[in-house]
Amino acid sequence: MKRNENDIKILELIQKKEAASRVEIAEKLGISQAAVSKRVKCLMELGYLKENHNKNIKTNGRNAVGLEINSNLGKVLGIYFGSEEISIALSDLEGNLLSLEKKKISENKNIRKICFEMTDKYIAEEKIVKIGIAMNGIVDVQNGISIYSAAYNWNNIKIKEEFEKRYNISVVIENGVNLMALYEKTFGMCQKQKSFVVINIGAGVGAAVYLNGELYHGKDFGVGEIGHIPFDLSKEALICSCGNKGCIETILSDWRIEQKIFKITGKKYSYDEIIERANNNEKEFRNVFMNLIPVFLNIIFWITTLINPEEIVIYGKINKCGDFFWRELKRKVKEGNLNKNNSLNIKSSSFDSDTIVYGAVILALNNMFRTI
Ligand SMILES: [Zn+2]
Repeated sequence: MKRNENDIKILELIQKKEAASRVEIAEKLGISQAAVSKRVKCLMELGYLKENHNKNIKTNGRNAVGLEINSNLGKVLGIYFGSEEISIALSDLEGNLLSLEKKKISENKNIRKICFEMTDKYIAEEKIVKIGIAMNGIVDVQNGISIYSAAYNWNNIKIKEEFEKRYNISVVIENGVNLMALYEKTFGMCQKQKSFVVINIGAGVGAAVYLNGELYHGKDFGVGEIGHIPFDLSKEALICSCGNKGCIETILSDWRIEQKIFKITGKKYSYDEIIERANNNEKEFRNVFMNLIPVFLNIIFWITTLINPEEIVIYGKINKCGDFFWRELKRKVKEGNLNKNNSLNIKSSSFDSDTIVYGAVILALNNMFRTI
């Protein structure tokens, strides 16, 4: 028997724990219990669903048999193509992380080979039903193409096609920062928010826009590439990884801060050391961060004016900066805001590449029943 749209809705209701019995499914979908029973029977025969009498629930005085996704169906993989490493997470169908593996990338040209070698092992050992891929740069999520990756120097690489050909498993792909937003929405700080923006500052600078309950991609998936907006228009502007001059990334990214401090002091400091010294009130270290405030204000004002989100979540090591920085930034935001009652929240979160790979797992699970 072929699966229809209602089958997918039934499976997703059970997966998201929005319904746990035939009665509840019928109520949620607005279809008869007889119709639901027929579809559930079919889905059980196909191995998607199973009854769990320990999860029986009383509905309208009657005992309704509990339903759950059949865990024997398989597992999902989340893969993150990061700028410095590749991470692979294995998860069960409930979203419980079973393992997490990482490999540093030393040479760009072998990236796909490294990733395939890592993935081969899971495909051989586990029954994988869906793969979610997090990719840096601009991603065509509909066709599964890495349109542009500055970190890898990739143009139009057909990631989804390559994986599906090799493994014969359905693959879904999304930009990594977007997956941070998906993680925040599913398990993190923005579960109740309908519209919020995530800004990630690390080796590069990117943003994700969650708008009216869903990720917003724009016409050709260019939403969020804020790192490559030109900001420094002076003669001294630095060359960016994209080839242009003076992009926001050339000012904000972690390694540029390290570079700046090296220029000033003649000594090499790690980003963590720089922050520690700034927090200890060493002037030249503190100034480097204070000089970033105009860039931040620019980003924040554009975001608040065009999107008016409930929250802005900032990811990155910059969050370790003390009050000296954040108090001043928030003061300036308030000062420059047209609506003084604006209750925009700026929240901070430490960057963790695990957030992205876990976002890839959520992506795989969210799309699991759409195409198996
Ligand atoms: Zn650039």
